Amino acid sequence: MSVWAILVAAGRGERLGLDQPKAFAKLGDEPLLAEPLRRLDACPWVDAIVVVAPAGWEEPAILCAEEIGAGKVSACVAGGETRTDSVRRGLAEVAEDALVVLVHDAARPLVGDEVVERVLEPLREGWDGAVPGVPVADTLKRTDERGGVRESVSREGLWAVQTPQAFAADALRRACSGDGTATDCSGLVEATGGRVRVVEGDPRLLKVTTESDLATVSAWL
Ligand code: C5P
Repeated sequence: MSVWAILVAAGRGERLGLDQPKAFAKLGDEPLLAEPLRRLDACPWVDAIVVVAPAGWEEPAILCAEEIGAGKVSACVAGGETRTDSVRRGLAEVAEDALVVLVHDAARPLVGDEVVERVLEPLREGWDGAVPGVPVADTLKRTDERGGVRESVSREGLWAVQTPQAFAADALRRACSGDGTATDCSGLVEATGGRVRVVEGDPRLLKVTTESDLATVSAWL
């Protein structure tokens, strides 16, 4: 089974308030991008990697890959306006004969082999996709625009979904061929009738959004 990974790193990361994109925020002594890239490159389940860099930052992204010796990187392309556009651009670089495509947010640096293995497993059983999730722990409320509570929402069967997300390549290609958008790839696959399973995620797959997330991930390194 040939597995290609698309590492989406083209977000602007405005909430970090830096003058460079989030993928180049410092995590320890390196750009954030280096950590997930090194981990995917070392992952025995991953055969090749496409990096989707912020437009105009392809060169520094390639340099970063070279510096850490990420030999599985096959292409580095500029991302688009939305995450879905960025995934589409990455997918265009995936080899025709790839069987599985793993899509991962560079903003979740601490990707590990175990979670990759967990999302690949359901594909062997015929699922179109698998995503890591953690059960929602907080009580949920739906509110109106003024913050007034309209209703309490049962958290039964609700998951906070992370990446890496794994898909049968043909299912992801079909899902990306239209012009729909979603906040994750699973949303696109679901919208085109794909069957996606949730597997156990990992709290350490925290998505870096703010300065304090960066400090948390840095402490976990
Ligand atoms: O913006 P969001 O938090 O959903 O970003 C999740 C991941 O998608 C990040 O790794 C970010 O770099 C990537 N992204 C992208 N292209 C965009 C927006 C987000 O590659 N236009």
